[in-house]
Amino acid sequence: MHELSLAMSVREIVEEAAQQNGATKVNRVNLAVGEFSSVSIDALEFAMEVVKKDSVFENAAIVIRSERTILECAACGSNTVMADYVFVCGKCSSGAVRIVSGDRMYVESIDIENGGE
Ligand SMILES: [Zn+2]
Repeated sequence: MHELSLAMSVREIVEEAAQQNGATKVNRVNLAVGEFSSVSIDALEFAMEVVKKDSVFENAAIVIRSERTILECAACGSNTVMADYVFVCGKCSSGAVRIVSGDRMYVESIDIENGGE
């Protein structure tokens, strides 16, 4: 289960961001998980609940968004959503495609509170 180590990296990122911004409280952590990233959203959700204990974002809402896999086609230049995990351009059916998003998991944004002026 590599979700736990991912969650621990998220904790580091959030704590660093909170510290840099002088945050007293983190309200919300938004994560994006690519459907091709091999990250299980359920497992990540569970792992986040574990790592947020005693952290600056202990009471924050963890929002995980699933991100579709986008393929860029070298033949026709289109970006299309990958269907059924098949590496083929959705427009011209060329196989000369590469993944431009949806193959990773990342912290999209963090909502923090600075406790006033
Ligand atoms: Zn194409």
